[in-house]
Amino acid sequence: MTEEMLLLARGLLTALHKNPERYDLPKIEAAYALAYHAHEGQKRQSGDPYISHPLAVAESVVGLGLDTDTVCAALLHDTVEDCEGITAEMIAERFGTDVATIVEGVTKIVTVSIENREAAQIENIRKMMLAISKDIRVIIVKLCDRLHNMRTLDGKKNGDRQREIALETMYVYAPLAHRLGMQRIKLELENLALLYLDPIGYKEVMEAIDGRFGTSRELLASAKSRIEERITAYGVKYEVEDRIKSVYSLYRKIYEQGKPFEEIYDFYALRVIVDTVEECYTVLGLVHEMFTSVPGRFKDYISMPKPNMYQSLHTTVMSRDGIPFEVQIRTREMHETAEFGIAAHWRYKTGEAADESVDKQLAWIASLIEADEDTRDPDEYIHSFKSSLFREEIFVFTPKGDVISLPKGATVIDFAYTIHTAVGNRMVGAKINGVIVPIDRVPQTGDVVEVLTRNNQGPSRDWLNIVTTSEARGKIRQWFKKEKRPENIVFGRDMMEKELRRLGHAFTSSEAEKIFEATAERVGIGTLDDLFDTVGYGGISLSRIAVRLKEESTRFLKAQQAAETTPASADEAALATMQESSKSRAQKKQNGGVIVDGAEGCLVKFARCCAPLPGDAIIGFVTRGFGVSVHKRDCPNAVAGVSDPAQADRWLAAHWEKKDEGSKMYEASLSILTEDKIGVLAEVSMALAEMKIPVLTINVAPPKDDRATIHITVGCKDTEHCRSIVARLNAIPTVLRITRN
Ligand code: MN
Repeated sequence: MTEEMLLLARGLLTALHKNPERYDLPKIEAAYALAYHAHEGQKRQSGDPYISHPLAVAESVVGLGLDTDTVCAALLHDTVEDCEGITAEMIAERFGTDVATIVEGVTKIVTVSIENREAAQIENIRKMMLAISKDIRVIIVKLCDRLHNMRTLDGKKNGDRQREIALETMYVYAPLAHRLGMQRIKLELENLALLYLDPIGYKEVMEAIDGRFGTSRELLASAKSRIEERITAYGVKYEVEDRIKSVYSLYRKIYEQGKPFEEIYDFYALRVIVDTVEECYTVLGLVHEMFTSVPGRFKDYISMPKPNMYQSLHTTVMSRDGIPFEVQIRTREMHETAEFGIAAHWRYKTGEAADESVDKQLAWIASLIEADEDTRDPDEYIHSFKSSLFREEIFVFTPKGDVISLPKGATVIDFAYTIHTAVGNRMVGAKINGVIVPIDRVPQTGDVVEVLTRNNQGPSRDWLNIVTTSEARGKIRQWFKKEKRPENIVFGRDMMEKELRRLGHAFTSSEAEKIFEATAERVGIGTLDDLFDTVGYGGISLSRIAVRLKEESTRFLKAQQAAETTPASADEAALATMQESSKSRAQKKQNGGVIVDGAEGCLVKFARCCAPLPGDAIIGFVTRGFGVSVHKRDCPNAVAGVSDPAQADRWLAAHWEKKDEGSKMYEASLSILTEDKIGVLAEVSMALAEMKIPVLTINVAPPKDDRATIHITVGCKDTEHCRSIVARLNAIPTVLRITRN
């Protein structure tokens, strides 16, 4: 290695030399040399040589305790994609198939944006899960990759891109790290993402932590030393750590759950690490002797581990000064699992890595892929993906006493399918604690659940609306898909015909057929029978298909009209589609034509209360939901907000981007005071139609003193355009006064 190569790899080499006997150093060196030359001349946006990135990723991988192959894959993870002349086959030849599989897996995981709910994105998530299911080390490298990209996100100059990456980290990678039990990485990813998504909230929480921690640091220190004294006297070997809740978890409690800072009981925690499970319970006893425990806060995750394998005892006690703090007690091994999760299984081990808990995680991922194979509904897929990442568990028992974990809110049907697909399919009823219960009953932790079955029984279609887990839903669909295609087609056609009738236009059956065909094409299903079948077995939800059906029938009617009538109305139809497409273009551009100083790249929404238009003086409010809402400067809410010291920080100067070709449509809301005469509303609507102004909402307030008020929202380009609309409406004799809200 050259001097420069050695210098760059300093961090990685130090990490490796902490446990040199665990690693095949020449192999790692060869991988480094290949990556170094492949990336030669490439730079990161920050200006650093590109190789610094794979080196940092490899260093994190070593920190997690992974094996030689994973370290090599980390070094090579960007070569196949970014460097000419390097292929997976070549890596397989030189470093073995494991390294190649991991590199390929990481390469295949492309940007997955959970906000953009299009089918292509679903495919990406599925691809990601497939790549992970081949070798779980793929996701470990990917998480380390993301961690380094987040740590260096400052180097990206584009605000939109920063926000996109931060969102994806928050919604995909941090939950994945959590689900795999990799707590340390999860916390760092969340905190870094928050820093970009709500910098002001981040700062507020940091200040609150400093304030509160500063004043009670001593209390915690004294509690710590009292506990240490007591355990020492008892003769148990231990280690005590103290910690403060992470910025992001405090942020969520304060802003999302609306909890006052003082009520967060687990703000402080002491962590006692001992050698054996027995000692865990001994220490718990000692702690409860010394301090009053807070009722309802004791959790035994040792006898009931979390689904991500986390084990620990948690209890909250009162310090002498009345400040509550949490004590977590666990063994060294549990601690390793808690911090490193799935990665803990490679730590201090050589060679064969897969053990039971790794298998369990892989089974979870496989079930996620399988259960959703038949889903064509992106919303639902995202939903089940998210809920399987975030799920909270309950624990119930089989009559034989086996513990079964279920996500919170799962029904007895979900329970049956968790036991076995065949049990679910044959289910006719259930008992909880010996008593027969309705089939949609939700069991609680500790319940004994028994499934009553009968042979030759199949699931019922209603179950699709009852079950809450994607696993059960997938299995029920699978059953219908396999067993009942002819019925599905009849059932699905019937549902779609009903839905079409609901739209209020009587179509002939050949017209209906055409609309169904167009709908099938829209959702990417080949034939009509396949579409009916899919709707019939629930592969696509009626609510989703209803939206497409409505769009297609409107389009059909418009085309029909255009064909039948004069060129003038064809123009109108063209205009309508033009407006539609310009609207969707405007929606695609996230900032809506607004620049908010200090929050570039944020998602921009227009405040309902004042509906600003280009030309208005505006101001932005940084919301807690990771976006900016734009108000008119003179909106009463903005005026009040700016002068409120508690939120003054969140109000930022904003201005409109330079006018583009004027294709963007905004919403203007108007209140029209009129005489209470028949026909006023019609006159107003006609005037708007003449000007080809799209009306988005219209409401008429009950008349008072011979006066009526019409509230309308119309599509509008800017303040000038709005003024011309108002002038035209003012010309109507019965219109008395118009105000923009
Ligand atoms: Mn990378």
